[in-house]
Amino acid sequence: MISFNEARSIIKNLTIETKQEEITLADACGRVLAENVVSDIDMPPYDKAAMDGYACRLSDIDKTLKVIEEIPAGYEPVKQIEQGHCSKIMTGAMVPEGADCVIMKEDIELVSDSNIKVLTYKSKSNICLKGEDVKRNDILLNRGVFIKPRHIAILASAGYSKVKVYKDPLVGVLSTGNELVEPDKKPDRSGIRNSNGWQLLAQAKEIVNDVRYFGIAKDDVNDLYSRIKLATEETDLVIISGGVSVGDYDFVPQIIEELGYDSLIKGVMVKPGKRIIVARKGDKFIVGTPGNPVSAYIQFILLIKPLIYRFLKTSDEEQIISMPVDRSFKRKGGKRTEFYPVVVTNGKVDFVDYNGSANIQAYAMANAFIEIPQGTVEINKGEKVDVRFI
Ligand code: AMP
Ligand code: MG
Repeated sequence: MISFNEARSIIKNLTIETKQEEITLADACGRVLAENVVSDIDMPPYDKAAMDGYACRLSDIDKTLKVIEEIPAGYEPVKQIEQGHCSKIMTGAMVPEGADCVIMKEDIELVSDSNIKVLTYKSKSNICLKGEDVKRNDILLNRGVFIKPRHIAILASAGYSKVKVYKDPLVGVLSTGNELVEPDKKPDRSGIRNSNGWQLLAQAKEIVNDVRYFGIAKDDVNDLYSRIKLATEETDLVIISGGVSVGDYDFVPQIIEELGYDSLIKGVMVKPGKRIIVARKGDKFIVGTPGNPVSAYIQFILLIKPLIYRFLKTSDEEQIISMPVDRSFKRKGGKRTEFYPVVVTNGKVDFVDYNGSANIQAYAMANAFIEIPQGTVEINKGEKVDVRFI
């Protein structure tokens, strides 16, 4: 069985053929850029007033100045500032030729209808210079950026009403298990509600638009085979929960092989989620995660999300922050890399009560989880751990 780090590098080094499409700016948030974004203009595009006030010459500020023009935003001044002159100017408007400063409105006195005197000068020009933020032809965003709202503003400012993005892979989710019932049913004495299916759908939907649900398959070779086959035909990545272990009814691994998929990962030294399988056939993938809800949840974050990111060719990296624990912690064993729910408040990491991989309810309290490395059995108060926020 491979280590967690080996599994991660297998996923991170995958290359997957992905198509591109052009979409409108309104649909771009949450997609991944497939082109570099280049500005077709300088920003600001002209010397721009940063304040409401009066544009004049710095060498004139001890004189009474004649107001020769009023310049609102969006208006191109027609008068040049000569000695002893100024123009009234609004924030965002174009600074007239000849002016080298804008005196704030609050810092002048109106001497008459068309004359002002500067009361104080605070040594700032209050002019944003043409091109000081961006020069024409500058690259503002690189291919691979996961587009967030702030990137939308940058795209809009650079004139991108349409943008090239990578096509989302189609993701399918299938739950397996004779014991499973859907959430609207009360399970009988030997039943369990299907929580993974809905959890995995939600996790996938945070990344891609097209997620399809293939229901619950029985622990029956024929039912499993036909459902998995259908899911692989209709999607690019099938996420299956349950049935990957070594029990008598765990048929998923054999079916993955029967369908001609090669296992890239078959078991990882992690807790929870040891029996995870990642298999590939051309540019299609199947991931089988163990059925316990925390295993499915954590393994989605640790391995499945990075796999979807390879489809999307994004450079977005997960954030892992090293932080000290607020309480000592011991565990048994220590052969596997373990992921444990914590709650981080004001920079302090505390462990939440957690009974193991079936106990997804523990994650109601958690806002992060920590990584306990292979071999570590004890963490002392104050020692730093790797924290992933959720
Ligand atoms: P398995 O990996 O199929 O051996 O399942 C391990 C445990 O996870 C069992 O207790 C299952 O009942 C439970 N389990 C499997 N699938 C799900 C699911 N979709 N939702 C909630 N629990 C599940
Ligand atoms: Mg099962």
